[in-house]
Amino acid sequence: MNVASGHDAVVRAENVSKRHGAIEAVADMTLEVRSGEVIALLGPSGCGKSTFLASIAGLVRIDGGTITLRDRPVSGPGLHVAPQDRRVGLVFQDHALFPHKTVADNVGFGLHAMGRADRRSRVGEMLELVQMTDKGHRYPHELSGGESQRVALARALAPAPDVLLLDEPFASLDPTLRADVRADVRSLLESVGMAAVMVSHDTSDALALGDRLAVLRAGRIVQIDTPDVIHRSPVDEHVAGIFGPVAVLPVTATGAALVTVLGPVAPRSVLHWSSGPVVLARPHDVEVSSQPGSTGTGALGTVRDRQFVGHGSRLVIALDGGFHIVADAPFDAPFVVGGRVIVRNRAAGRPADG
Ligand code: ADP
Ligand code: MG
Repeated sequence: MNVASGHDAVVRAENVSKRHGAIEAVADMTLEVRSGEVIALLGPSGCGKSTFLASIAGLVRIDGGTITLRDRPVSGPGLHVAPQDRRVGLVFQDHALFPHKTVADNVGFGLHAMGRADRRSRVGEMLELVQMTDKGHRYPHELSGGESQRVALARALAPAPDVLLLDEPFASLDPTLRADVRADVRSLLESVGMAAVMVSHDTSDALALGDRLAVLRAGRIVQIDTPDVIHRSPVDEHVAGIFGPVAVLPVTATGAALVTVLGPVAPRSVLHWSSGPVVLARPHDVEVSSQPGSTGTGALGTVRDRQFVGHGSRLVIALDGGFHIVADAPFDAPFVVGGRVIVRNRAAGRPADG
């Protein structure tokens, strides 16, 4: 996306904290959203995503830190600008459309400062943007989930906010619709060059929309970076796990070579965690064969589970050395639960992307 350099931050949150009674919902969070950038906040339920978003929106008063929107302080010690004076657009999971207003009146809701004619033309423009031009007269109960979501977006974008804040915007959508709506929202945000912060507990949502991901845990940002950097260099096992199953294998030096239980590894794939050097093994990083007698590198193990997934079968293998590895195999592969196998690094054919 059209990401400008750091000095023109749309949102700057510094050391923000918010308690709910004894619970530290947001603890010392610092985040900058650049012009045109979409940041996805990813983390499990209860980790403080919504509280942080509501802090930016002004829906909650923060206990510590400062929030600046386009160089204008809006939250801080002794300062709390009301949500309607922040130029933020909000979209929630349930869309929260006004049930007794038409689509057009929902979209026009935030435009009371405009004259009638301007308002009508702005509503028309927004309906066109979300491809709902022919449905302006409908009521929310006459819309599909995807259409409701588009109306909610149009309503949030109509007053031309500085930043769009989306809280689990796809959570209520049927899985078959979800990928399409995500793609629509992504191209919509791109076309208007809108900065946005989206909250989700779902990695696919975060990857679909986020130029950068902020991975949250217990009220804190554990890592913030582009998806590829987080995928390649997660800071710990929890972050590594957001992309799906992963085995964390300790690295040892044998002479000049670096090895894991699966065999030699390239120095560039080694991560230097506080627990020591490790290499990640995701399902596509390993290959499984059923010739335990064969020599060479690799680790012996026993298949503990086999599940059919979209593209084949997914095996869980308990290595004799004590690690569990998840690997993918074709549908017709001869592996059975309880069978003995050998697991190797899929060295050949692995892209040299570091
Ligand atoms: P998330 O959106 O990541 O699921 P939340 O920000 O909603 O997390 O909640 C963070 C923590 O703060 C949770 O422990 C939650 O129970 C608590 N919490 C959130 N809102 C309130 C509230 N209004 N009153 C009391 N506790 C709250
Ligand atoms: Mg939430």
